[in-house]
Amino acid sequence: MAELVWDEGMSVGIDSLDNDHKQLIAILAQLMSAKNEKLGPEGIDEIFERLEGYCQSHFAREEALLAKINYQQFDAHKQSHQAFIKRIPQLKEQWFAKGTESEVVKDKVILFLQQWLIKHILEEDLDYVPAIHCFEEFSRYKKDKKSKHPLLRLFSVKLSQSLILSHRVLITTLIPVAATLLLCFFILKDNYQRYDNISKVLGLNSVIEQVNGITHSLQAERGLSTGYTSSNYRSFAEQLSKRRKNTDAKIQYFLGLLDKSANQEVKIGVNRYMVNFQKIVENLSRHRMHLDQKIVGFEDTYYVYTELIEQLLSVSDHLVHIEIGSSHANDISAINAVLRYKEFMGQIRAIGMKIDENHQDSIYDNVDVSLLVGKQLNILRIFESSANAGQKLICGSYCNAISQRQHLESSYLETMQFNDKDVRAARWFNVMSEKIDILNTVVEKLISEFDEQIYNESQQLKTEGYLIILAMLVFLLAAIFFALVLNYSIISPVRKLTFALNDMSEGQNNIHFESIDSKDEIGSMQLAFEKLRRKLLQGDVYKATVSQQQKEIKYRKSQQDHFQQLAITDALTGAVNRHHFNEVLDQEISNVNNYGNPLSIMLLDIDYFKQVNDTYGHGVGDEVLVLFYQTCVEAVRSSDVVARIGGEEFVIVMPNTTLDNAEKFAERLRQKIAKLEINVADKQISITVSIGVSQWKNDYFTNAETFVAHADKSLYQAKNSGRNKVVATQQ
Ligand code: GH3
Ligand code: MG
Ligand code: MG
Repeated sequence: MAELVWDEGMSVGIDSLDNDHKQLIAILAQLMSAKNEKLGPEGIDEIFERLEGYCQSHFAREEALLAKINYQQFDAHKQSHQAFIKRIPQLKEQWFAKGTESEVVKDKVILFLQQWLIKHILEEDLDYVPAIHCFEEFSRYKKDKKSKHPLLRLFSVKLSQSLILSHRVLITTLIPVAATLLLCFFILKDNYQRYDNISKVLGLNSVIEQVNGITHSLQAERGLSTGYTSSNYRSFAEQLSKRRKNTDAKIQYFLGLLDKSANQEVKIGVNRYMVNFQKIVENLSRHRMHLDQKIVGFEDTYYVYTELIEQLLSVSDHLVHIEIGSSHANDISAINAVLRYKEFMGQIRAIGMKIDENHQDSIYDNVDVSLLVGKQLNILRIFESSANAGQKLICGSYCNAISQRQHLESSYLETMQFNDKDVRAARWFNVMSEKIDILNTVVEKLISEFDEQIYNESQQLKTEGYLIILAMLVFLLAAIFFALVLNYSIISPVRKLTFALNDMSEGQNNIHFESIDSKDEIGSMQLAFEKLRRKLLQGDVYKATVSQQQKEIKYRKSQQDHFQQLAITDALTGAVNRHHFNEVLDQEISNVNNYGNPLSIMLLDIDYFKQVNDTYGHGVGDEVLVLFYQTCVEAVRSSDVVARIGGEEFVIVMPNTTLDNAEKFAERLRQKIAKLEINVADKQISITVSIGVSQWKNDYFTNAETFVAHADKSLYQAKNSGRNKVVATQQ
């Protein structure tokens, strides 16, 4: 018989109860070894007492706990406890019962206790364990509830009711992703706008560069043309012709460049002035023609060129109105200011070509020049306020109003030293041209520096744009990756656990977690599930073992019963055999002695049975014996015992029967036997029986043998008096 041992799977998770259960298991083990070692009654008594004591204290502990949690099946549980306590003395009584079956009974007692304990722990106790844990959780929850925000709790409950776990994880991942992507989108949009502005600025700058080139050439042409008219068309002719070619080339280049201009807005902005520009070109060629035909003087030449230049410069002035941001607009204004400054210088150069005619001491005596210098001062102020540090550094002293003023004055005085008009004009032209060329270099440098700065900025914005797109992609990929990781690490295992638990609740233990890699709560859950699954498997195996043991005990019992039956019965008829008849009769005689009830027996011997054998064979004889026995058994009372004590001799023990009644019954039986129709192989056999009846008398018989011998004597008389008779002899 298997010993019940403690298994962690039996743990109910409450230490005090687990200890009680362990102790009860230990007591059962003691009882089992007491049986094997055939311990005396005192030892056994002590074990049963301990069992009862322990059960009582354990039940009291358990009941207190169940009362605390207000357990629904409390009453049923208590009743089962009380029933078991009552059962313990009965089990002890069974244990001490004497007889051939005593070992089996002891096994039965132990098995019953083991089964009760398993049922108590695995069914009854494990049933209330969730209620206890829930109660503890609930108490903790009630404490938590006070400290946590109720709105937060309400929201989480609603969320868990309306969204499954995977959707919740997806949303928690998607919300920050969407927010970040939106933010990136706005940054990218801003970046693109800035980049678009920069390309506009680049386009503007190249237009300004060209305008500067053309105005510079026109300014030179104006200087030469005014000189040409002042010197009666003699001097400057050759230089003028070269300059005109230069101007034409620049205009052509500018027109070609406008067609190619990348920025649409700049193109539209410039085209708005193209009609004007066409007129400028037409005016220029007409004026040149007039100049060549010598039909225009200094004044006309000066004004025509100045107006042409003015109109050209207004193109770049107007371009500043295109939306490009204040910082760049200031930079362009600063460049335009220097362009204007240079133009005023050019105008001064042109006016200076004919100053000698009225010969003045100071250049500022000339009203036009004085006005232009005033304009220069104004434009330099504009430069000062709009130029950045880099631009101011490039301009340096060239954009300083005082030094420019002094320089102009000294240049004028120097020129006036020469008496020859043509020499003076040439000298003035050269001095001023030198100055204007320097300013042109300054403008070109400003433009190229600005161009470089803008180009760098555009490259930087481009890089920033690419970086933002890259960051967006990386973020998106990372979010997808994390969503997948969350799916694999949380949602899939939780789903698998749910399936497994559902399966387990339906009695299937085939889903299991072979390798548990994660060390987090999910891993702990899987580990706990695996433990639970194995415990349940162990429980199943244990139940199977117990039921196998029960089967074995039952089988042994039936075998034993079978052999016991064989030992007390006659193999042919099934009647009680002679040996057991003696025991029965002894027992009945002792009952008569104790209680004084009457006891009778009758001895039956089939008449001439030898003839049956001889006539029909031994087999038929056997059949007749069986039939004879069945007829007797059917006729007797339940308390009577029919035994076969010889070949065709039977005895019937009749407790609580007087001789008189026994004789009457014997007579009825005799007649019944005589009327029996026994059909064997198409032949009918009939038999008769002789019966001797006797009643027990304490003072007459000494033992069973004398009692039987007395009945035998009556039987002998029945035989001798012709057979088929009943003889009852009174002592
Ligand atoms: P009586 O009337 O004097 O009793 O005559 P009887 O022939 O019945 O008595 P006897 O003692 O001479 O013969 C008993 C016979 O019973 C002898 C034996 O062959 C037969 N017998 C004994 N046991 C069995 C048995 O188990 N089966 C069969 N078929 N016959 C048996
Ligand atoms: Mg006989
Ligand atoms: Mg006989």
